[in-house]
Amino acid sequence: MRVPMTEYLFIDLDTERWICRVCAHDFGDARGNYKEGTLVHDRDPREIHPPVIDPEKYEFTFSPDPAYCRILEFYCPTCGTQIEAEYLPPGHPPTVDMLWDIDSLREKWEARGDDPEEVVNYGPGENAVTDLSARFDSVGGHSHSTHREGEH
Ligand SMILES: [Zn+2]
Repeated sequence: MRVPMTEYLFIDLDTERWICRVCAHDFGDARGNYKEGTLVHDRDPREIHPPVIDPEKYEFTFSPDPAYCRILEFYCPTCGTQIEAEYLPPGHPPTVDMLWDIDSLREKWEARGDDPEEVVNYGPGENAVTDLSARFDSVGGHSHSTHREGEH
């Protein structure tokens, strides 16, 4: 049983692994931090937030100071989907944004008796579509189309 946890992450309760909802990449132990299984891009915030006003004339602009702020982007190493992003001081390790009680999660979904993939009806957006269905189907045992145009 796979439980959608975010737009791009499942927890597979059978294997207790974090799984990419786009391509079925395995990010690691569902009792741990999925970010350890991602590719991380440490971004200079000036690339994301332009200064708007002339940085030659003004000490402070609309760009965060890269000496105080970095933007960490987390990507699936298989399909390249951006899974998460966060703002941190330079050198700060990635945060742990989700730690789940897997036993309780399993207990609640089993008691409910529904398929979480049918009940949770949000998912990867159209811009996340990639044709890795062969890999996805071989991992999950379910039949899923990765063509999600028009679905939300
Ligand atoms: Zn992926």
